Amino acid sequence: MAIFCPKCGSLMVAKREAGKVVMVCPRCGYVDRKEEKIEIREKVEDKKEIPVIDQDINAMPIVSAICPKCGNDKAYFWSIQTRASDEPETRFYKCTKCGFTWREYE
Ligand SMILES: [Zn+2]
Ligand SMILES: [Zn+2]
Repeated sequence: MAIFCPKCGSLMVAKREAGKVVMVCPRCGYVDRKEEKIEIREKVEDKKEIPVIDQDINAMPIVSAICPKCGNDKAYFWSIQTRASDEPETRFYKCTKCGFTWREYE
């Protein structure tokens, strides 16, 4: 996937920064931090499908979390204990802006 710098149009290169992959323009130094969110979304898609939310969304607390899809920093939060009791509970977030839902792994 080729990403071009929005500032100068050069081809951006992937670079590791603090354990996350970011796209950096080798020409002007522009950093596209959206790329690290895409990486998170790919991890989510590797796993099982996110269960359909049957909770009342208005009853959910809103926490500070970055939406991997639109970058919004607020999301509804809830957690589900999976069937296997030895597994830790899974935390879910739903973006307050675009409705994208993702789960969090420790
Ligand atoms: Zn550039
Ligand atoms: Zn969103």
